[in-house]
This record gives sequence, structure tokens and C-alpha cells, in this order.
Amino acid sequence: MSQTRTPARAAAGTAPSASQTACPCGGQPPGATYAACCARLIETRQAAPDALTLMRSRYTAYVYDNFDYLRSTWHPRTCPPDLADAGDNPARPRWLGLSIKRHTAIDEDHAEVEFVARYKIGGRAQRLHEISRFTRIEGRWRYLDGQLFD
Ligand SMILES: [Zn+2]
Repeated sequence: MSQTRTPARAAAGTAPSASQTACPCGGQPPGATYAACCARLIETRQAAPDALTLMRSRYTAYVYDNFDYLRSTWHPRTCPPDLADAGDNPARPRWLGLSIKRHTAIDEDHAEVEFVARYKIGGRAQRLHEISRFTRIEGRWRYLDGQLFD
């Protein structure tokens, strides 16, 4: 997701450890808990098998304000230097859900994921519709950039 939509850092940026609810990304498979889903990438830094799985984990990292993970999965050329400097932004978005529209493998090391992320900011519901581009570097998928739609 783009820098302009970066949520502010929360207290410690840690995720609930034993949640029985579905992963913030919706779960893969659907309804899977955080522990069974994105935690494998975010907590243990297991390499994502594909760009889609990485994209889901990055959405979850936004929900949990895990900027270390977002930085580690961002292409070094496009990662904003002030990623975690948003501070106590009162207009911090509250992420509500992720809907994957399309996952296209362009070649072995390049892929696109189209998604809609819903969030609330200042009490107003918004949606972020983006086609994200991903590149694999040394066996690890990274977010390169994204194109936003209205
Ligand atoms: Zn997940």
C-alpha cells in the first residue's frame, strides 16, 4: 500500500498472540487464525510462497502497525525512509477488511495483486483500490509499488 495511506504507529505494534478470530487479512484458507495465517510470515519471517501471500501479510502488518515487517518486505528502492514516523496521527485509519480481486504471476519473479482494502478514518468509511506490483529478490517477495484507483 502506498505511503500516503500509511497508518500511524501504535503503542508497541505487537499482535495479539492467541486470537481465535480470523486473521485480519481474512485468513488463508478463509477464516484461518492469525497464528495459522500471516503470523508464519510476520513472526517467524518465513518466506512468502507467492506475492499474494506476502500482500496479505503486509495488510495484516498494517492492521498491527508492524512497520519493521512492512520495511523488510518493501523493495529497498521504493521503501519510504519515514515509514514509521507517522507519529500519533489522529487521522489514523482503522482497517476493516481485505478483498483480493486478482493475483497475476507475470514471471517467476514478478507479480501483481489487485485488492480492495476497506478502512475508516475520522468516522468515514473508505476503500483503497490498488494494483500492487511485487518483485522477488534473493528468493523473497517484496512490494515494489502500486497504482491506485478511485
Ligand atoms: Zn492472514
